[in-house]
Amino acid sequence: EVDTTGPHFIILSRDITERKTAELELLETLHRLDEAQRIARTGSWELDLSTGKLIWSGEIFHIFELDPEMFPATYEGFLGAIHPEDREMVNRAYSHSLANRTPYEITHRLLMADGRVKWVNERCETAYDEDGDPLRSMGTVQDITQQTETELALAESRAQFEMLVEYASVAISILQGERFLFVNPAMQVLTGYSEEALLSMTVWEVVHPDFHQLVRERAGARQRGEAAPSRYEFKLITRQGEIRWVDMTVNLVIYAGLPCSLGFLTDVTERKLAEAALQEQESHYHLAIDTTPEGFWVVNRQGRVIEVNEAYARMSGYSREELIGMRVSALDADDNPAVVAERMGEIIQRGGHASFESRHCRKDGTIWPVKIVTSYADTGGGRFFSFISDLSEHKKAEEEMQLSRMVYDNSSEAILVSDSNNRIIAVNPAFVKMTGYQPEEVIGRTPSMFKSGRHEPAFYHEMWRELGVRDHWHGEIWDKRKNGEIHAKLLTINIIRNASGAVHRYVALFTDITERKKNEEMIWRQANYDLLTGLPNRRMFQDRLQQEEKKCLRSGLPMGLMLIDLDRFKEVNDTLGHDMGDLLLVDTAARVGACVRGSDTVARLGGDEFAIILPELTDLGSIEQIAQSVIERLSEPYRLGNEESYISASIGISLYPLDTDDLGDLLKNADQAMYAAKSAGRNRFSYFTPEMQQAAQHRMRLANDLRMALGAGQLRVHYQPIVDLASGEIRKAEALVRWQHPLRGLVSPADFIPLAEETGLIVAIGNWVFEEAAHQVVKWRNAYHPAFQVSVNKSPVQLRQEEEAPYIWPTYLQQQDIPGHAIVVEITEGMLLNSGEQVNQKLRHIREAGIQISVDDFGTGYSSLAYLKRLDVDYLKIDQSFVRNLAESKDDYALCEAIIVMAHKLGLQVVAEGVETETQRRLLRDMGCDFAQGYLFSRPLPAMDFEKLLSPAGVNAGAGL
Ligand code: C2E
Ligand code: MG
Ligand code: MG
Repeated sequence: EVDTTGPHFIILSRDITERKTAELELLETLHRLDEAQRIARTGSWELDLSTGKLIWSGEIFHIFELDPEMFPATYEGFLGAIHPEDREMVNRAYSHSLANRTPYEITHRLLMADGRVKWVNERCETAYDEDGDPLRSMGTVQDITQQTETELALAESRAQFEMLVEYASVAISILQGERFLFVNPAMQVLTGYSEEALLSMTVWEVVHPDFHQLVRERAGARQRGEAAPSRYEFKLITRQGEIRWVDMTVNLVIYAGLPCSLGFLTDVTERKLAEAALQEQESHYHLAIDTTPEGFWVVNRQGRVIEVNEAYARMSGYSREELIGMRVSALDADDNPAVVAERMGEIIQRGGHASFESRHCRKDGTIWPVKIVTSYADTGGGRFFSFISDLSEHKKAEEEMQLSRMVYDNSSEAILVSDSNNRIIAVNPAFVKMTGYQPEEVIGRTPSMFKSGRHEPAFYHEMWRELGVRDHWHGEIWDKRKNGEIHAKLLTINIIRNASGAVHRYVALFTDITERKKNEEMIWRQANYDLLTGLPNRRMFQDRLQQEEKKCLRSGLPMGLMLIDLDRFKEVNDTLGHDMGDLLLVDTAARVGACVRGSDTVARLGGDEFAIILPELTDLGSIEQIAQSVIERLSEPYRLGNEESYISASIGISLYPLDTDDLGDLLKNADQAMYAAKSAGRNRFSYFTPEMQQAAQHRMRLANDLRMALGAGQLRVHYQPIVDLASGEIRKAEALVRWQHPLRGLVSPADFIPLAEETGLIVAIGNWVFEEAAHQVVKWRNAYHPAFQVSVNKSPVQLRQEEEAPYIWPTYLQQQDIPGHAIVVEITEGMLLNSGEQVNQKLRHIREAGIQISVDDFGTGYSSLAYLKRLDVDYLKIDQSFVRNLAESKDDYALCEAIIVMAHKLGLQVVAEGVETETQRRLLRDMGCDFAQGYLFSRPLPAMDFEKLLSPAGVNAGAGL
């Protein structure tokens, strides 16, 4: 009997009991087998190859999840239960197994009715008969679904892990002790070492020495099971020697059966550097706010101090600790949180920057003014960064400024401030009032605009010099107001210098002292001037006398002092009254003043006494002239009211330093001389010294006599021949005036010509000589030679004084029908030198009339070629002084020669004067001198005697005189 329920074992038996027992045992065994198969999830099948009948075990149905009733007991049926995609593979494996008589084992899938897939492991073996034909195939099918899925999951996760390790940017290493067991590529990148190198290295070759200790401690602690941070930072040294910061997370793991540490390392070098930079910035920031003398704080949006520096703490009296967390409004003297909040909002609105003044309250309750400069930053929920400066000093200074401003504005003293370039930068109201200038008219200009012109440049130089030395100047100065008025100031200038010592400001303070000055001047005038006449008084006279003395000492020129006393003034006073007397004095002062030069001083010494100081006299004769003209002017009638009055004066003269070099004595001398004049009969002048007095008297008498001389026929004209040096002929003569005084005899022209010039008599005398000479020359022209010429001397006074001088002589010649060529006019060198246009014109007129011109006494003055060229001159007369030493003096010789050569070059002829010796004549002739005049040939002679020289024999004989 065949058990259809169990495919595996078939047992045959005869004994039924035994069989029954055996059946029972078999059933038992089959049941156990089923149980075993179920547990092993393995089913079995058997295919009878002769019948094609397939037997399944129960577990097969279970695995295949099939109903045994429905399942076809064929191999095709079996195949149909396999996953369609694997059917072909399984069929092929079985065919192959049959063909090769080999068992097979294959893993394939089953497709469940609900679409699930199961994995099975199938084994199969085929039994053969003796002939080798296949009998039956037997197989097992094991459900390995569960196992396979686990394996697949594992494989997948393993692949993922390897990918992670391979491609992770985080560096991974596994350390066993100090040796690397594993490193990933990122670890190689991080350290710069290859995997191979790392696996042969210890960890200490990679960790920075500074961190060996730390790494060792941490590792030790973990191994001992102590709690240690599994994450920390340290420095690595790369193969290239670079130092890199890493952040490492460490875990203890079992790897390859060994306890290892698994480390994940991240390169944080960039972050670390950034952190360090930030830290540095932070420290700078702290350094800055801790060292600034200004207060500094950071306040949050809620108005609380979150940071504050020492400076603010010091200023406020609070400690930094106390300040941190305080409300800002509590530090504000007005303690108003609403105001502070509003202000904060405003700052943010206005762009985050603000600067304002406020009042803060110290810990001790005192209040101090502050200036706050604040900036808002939108960090950490909003922060105000503020600098707080103490304005106490500033405020004090401001108050002082205000005070000084008040003084400045209200001062009665004018104040002017200028900068280092002395440009005016400020003036006060008193200044405006005093000068009349508005500030805008003076600001930017220099104080030199006020200069009055009353001070010499030296005055300002001295002022600046002293300012430079002392930074200060004080004195009186005359300045000009806007309206041009000159006013006096008492001026103080102070220099304000800056820290480096350079001039910062000039401050000038001044008060108007014009009134005081006026008063002073009045007092001074009263003290120094005579109120009646306005002339300097005795005091002033003394001063002037001293000043003039100094001038005379410097110049070496004498000074004259003249005392004038009115004769019988008392009578005028007594008869006409003091008022008339005063009038007379005033008039006298004016008259005396009109007689002197501008540089002379006329003073009233008191009563009827006047004085004249005549400094730096070049010509003593002028004193006499002045004295004489004073006497004459005062002798003119005075009109006093309705009265006419006459008065005379006596004048005393003393000369400094000729009479005395003591000023006191000088005055006494003049006084004495004045009394002498009075006692000599008044209305005259007197010198102090007898010689001067005598000479003066002599001159005066002479002048009187001279006035008479012309009318009295006391004058004569003598003629001196002028010899042609080449031929020895006399074709010219000089007319020289002579005065035959009835008592004195013949007076030399050297004595009376100056007198005639002083008195003006020279004009009349000169004209008379000219007329005499003109008539004489006509005679000689007719009798001896038609080209005969007579030269006539002409004084500069003549040329200057007579208006009509140039016309008188030519007109006279015309009237008398005398040719102009008959006359030569001798003028002096000085005439050329001082020739104004008027003089030039007069000389031109003379020449136009045919009259020739000769320059007398040439060489004694300063004539130059230029003058000679400018004026048309015909002759030069070399002065006697050069001719005199011609033989002895080389200089004079050279000079004469030069004059001759020069004159010839200019087309002039030369006359040598004062030729007394034959040698002189010869030398002059050899030099080429044209004419000679002198005692060698003849002294000046009366016309009658002169004529004797003109006979041919006489001329030749003349050389023998
Ligand atoms: P002067 O015009 O230079 O005249 C020449 C002077 O030299 C004359 O002096 C004459 O006598 C003098 N004399 C001539 N030969 C010699 C000599 O060999 N030796 C010396 N030692 N002297 C000599 P005198 O006549 O005394 O006249 C002096 C000056 O008076 C003249 O100098 C002239 O400047 C001036 N004078 C003379 N007559 C007149 C005149 O009528 N009118 C003007 N305005 N001045 C006159
Ligand atoms: Mg002459
Ligand atoms: Mg002469």
